[in-house]
Amino acid sequence: MGKPTGFLEYERKQNADVPVKERIQNFDEFHIPLSEEARREQAARCMNCGVPLCQSAVRLGGMVTGCPLHNLIPEYNDHLYRGHYAHALARLVKTNNFPEFTGRVCPALCEKACINGEYGEPVTCHDNELFLIETGFARGYMKPQIPAVRSGKKVAVIGAGPSGLAAADQLNHRGHSVTVFEREDRIGGLLMYGIPNMKLDKSVISRRRRLMEEEGVEFRTGVDVGKDVDGAAILKEYDAVLLCCGAKEPRKLSAVGMDGVKGIAFAVDFLTGATRRLLSPETAKSVLSAAGKDVVVVGGGDTGNDCIGTVIRQGCRSVTALEMMPEPPAERAADNPWPEWPKVKKTDYGHEEAIAKFGSDPRVYSTTVKEVHADKKGVLKSVTIVSVKLENRKLVEIPGTEKEIPCGLLLIAAGFTGCEKYTADTFGAALSARGTVAAEPEGYRTGADKVFTAGDMHRGQSLVVWAIHEGRCAAREVDEYLMGYSNEEE
Ligand SMILES: Cc1cc2nc3c(=O)[nH]c(=O)nc-3n(C[C@H](O)[C@H](O)[C@H](O)COP(=O)(O)OP(=O)(O)OC[C@H]3O[C@@H](n4cnc5c(N)ncnc54)[C@H](O)[C@@H]3O)c2cc1C
Repeated sequence: MGKPTGFLEYERKQNADVPVKERIQNFDEFHIPLSEEARREQAARCMNCGVPLCQSAVRLGGMVTGCPLHNLIPEYNDHLYRGHYAHALARLVKTNNFPEFTGRVCPALCEKACINGEYGEPVTCHDNELFLIETGFARGYMKPQIPAVRSGKKVAVIGAGPSGLAAADQLNHRGHSVTVFEREDRIGGLLMYGIPNMKLDKSVISRRRRLMEEEGVEFRTGVDVGKDVDGAAILKEYDAVLLCCGAKEPRKLSAVGMDGVKGIAFAVDFLTGATRRLLSPETAKSVLSAAGKDVVVVGGGDTGNDCIGTVIRQGCRSVTALEMMPEPPAERAADNPWPEWPKVKKTDYGHEEAIAKFGSDPRVYSTTVKEVHADKKGVLKSVTIVSVKLENRKLVEIPGTEKEIPCGLLLIAAGFTGCEKYTADTFGAALSARGTVAAEPEGYRTGADKVFTAGDMHRGQSLVVWAIHEGRCAAREVDEYLMGYSNEEE
């Protein structure tokens, strides 16, 4: 611990945000880094606790608290405070392949478990992490680490989201020759086509791709495995295959009158179109836009929030966000004490922007869409919404609460039900009852010979930090399978 009294002397300071009315004019990232001196003071708030819960990832109250990657947070904070940035970065990348992703989009399970947070404000582990990796890139510390010896083994990773990328990075550094197959035109998975640009600028993903390519990873984009090439051909060419294809199958909405109506989209399809329009406007002219429309978003999670931020930037006329569950408390309930994950109402960037632009909170709780209405051309014009309540652990409609509201774009962000089956099928891997690829208990090996799985495809829709964790653990198993032992870190 660099400064034993740091947590008493310095208040928590997060990176500031560009004012809402300015930032909604574009899709640029909007966090403003602290000065170097102020950042080091933030690191000095870390107390190097005897039991650092921030790096523990323990399950409490049914949810994990602390970093799933077991990032060495007190160590990197100490080096950061002392100004030893290269050392701090070395400790950070020892457990986290991509701090530039988590430093931007992770909900910071570490901070929820920080002991400073019991009575005051937690350490800014998340922003400190971003400072270190961005400083590392800016100062040239992030040099290609090319393996001195190659094992002669070939691994195919299917899917270039954070789990596939983390596994590819680990396996490549171990000396295996890794090819990553990706059906989209760009790598990154939901980091690229899902999470909007203002949360994660897409040049950050290209920068990582260049580094991985210099280190020897081969990327084959625009290849849909199971359609463009079948599993048998890949199994013949490679010594092991790792399936990291995500869990993109969306949960459907069962409202009356939806069939064939124009103006209804699943959130990820809509967000993908929004990013395509930004990156390649010439090829994305026909994608759905919210410009001038009354938008209704169904689903109150992170995906719903990203839809709100996106439709505001596209110039929607209004936005309403429906959430089936009741409004969470503003503060921790008595049965949800620190350091459990706080089950409290979170006003995220999209909500803030809607409040600033339209003057009221867009969120309506305990409500869903009951029916959609189209004009004569089949174009969506309004929806009937209805209040719901929990009865015998099921949500039921409350009669008489129906209300019709204008709606030109309905976005469904109601969660995901599992992975797309065709990729598992082409390799002969079975699905579990949860719609994910089945693997050995506590492991990543599927029932199909030399086929492994990781990330959302294995775990179900989750978080980037868990995807990286899964990619690392699966890489270790693949390495053991290929070499008979592994010295890879998880
Ligand atoms: C809108 C949205 C916002 C989110 N925001 C956050 C956030 O802020 N913070 C956070 O921590 N998490 C967030 N998440 C969750 C997080 O993005 C995912 O948990 C994570 O990306 C999962 O990584 P993955 O590698 O398992 O899968 P994915 O990221 O889904 O990547 C899977 C990849 O496999 C490719 N693929 C699929 N099938 C094939 C095939 N047959 N052949 C070739 N390629 C294939 C896909 O094209 C895709 O690129 C968000 C999710 C969504 C939907």
